[in-house]
Amino acid sequence: MSKSVEHLVEYFQRYDRWLLLTGAGISANSGIPTYRDARGNWLRVTPIQHQEFISQLSKRRRYWGRSMVGWPGVRDARPNPIHLAVTRLESLNRVGLIITQNVDRLHQRAGSQQVIDLHGRLDRVCCLDCGAGYEREYVQQQLLRLNPQHSGFSVQPRPDGDADLSDADVATIRPFDCEACGGMLMPDVVFFGGTVPRSRVEACEQALAACDGLLVLGSSLQVYSGFRFCKQAHALGKPIVILNEGITRADDLAALKITDHALETFVDAVDQLSPIAGPKELACLTRVSSGSDTTYV
Ligand SMILES: [Zn+2]
Repeated sequence: MSKSVEHLVEYFQRYDRWLLLTGAGISANSGIPTYRDARGNWLRVTPIQHQEFISQLSKRRRYWGRSMVGWPGVRDARPNPIHLAVTRLESLNRVGLIITQNVDRLHQRAGSQQVIDLHGRLDRVCCLDCGAGYEREYVQQQLLRLNPQHSGFSVQPRPDGDADLSDADVATIRPFDCEACGGMLMPDVVFFGGTVPRSRVEACEQALAACDGLLVLGSSLQVYSGFRFCKQAHALGKPIVILNEGITRADDLAALKITDHALETFVDAVDQLSPIAGPKELACLTRVSSGSDTTYV
């Protein structure tokens, strides 16, 4: 067992119930790239801002054009071993709540039960005028119908289901409007510059108050909506453990910070708590050797 895994297992042994705060880093292995590099800098272009989306048709064209191309990559992404390890930790009754900053629903697809999608979910779309709700996949079919010229594109998606598309392509995009009222549709996500609903924040704060520690997985915590829970945990005197391959905004608040192979360390530590079925299970049994025979008891 590596030193990092040992340290993390010690924390799991010392503190019982954990609040997990997850970010884009944990979905990278599912083919959904992260927003920021290891130093916290933006990768490629800055994501769309809430106010731009609301006020400018050109920004909505750009969003839906890119989203139309990027959505299938998010829709078809599958949970990876990190999501599955989170679910296993939850099944051991060691998780009070999973707060995810991701909008990809991969925790739920991995079988996790107690998840709050802090920044919403990409698989739903809402009308800003009448409140009607749509499945994102239904909107996708309408977008493809309205924009047949773009249906063949295949590019790399980003965490918000956005993707790169040229300005010339964007200018020809026809957004899909609400079928009930003709109003403006918006994905059910909190864009940068947008506000997380107060009730959602309060549910997270209550869960944190009832947990023994905060575990951050794969987030640089640059966005305040996530960072606030580190401040709260610190104020409550709860240990903060951060596993992220890069600097984070809360590094100086952390009781334990693991950077190298951070997420593999998490999976290995959960393995120590709950060996997965199969050959690995033998490792947790007491091995009794007598001559050439080995038995497991
Ligand atoms: Zn409407």
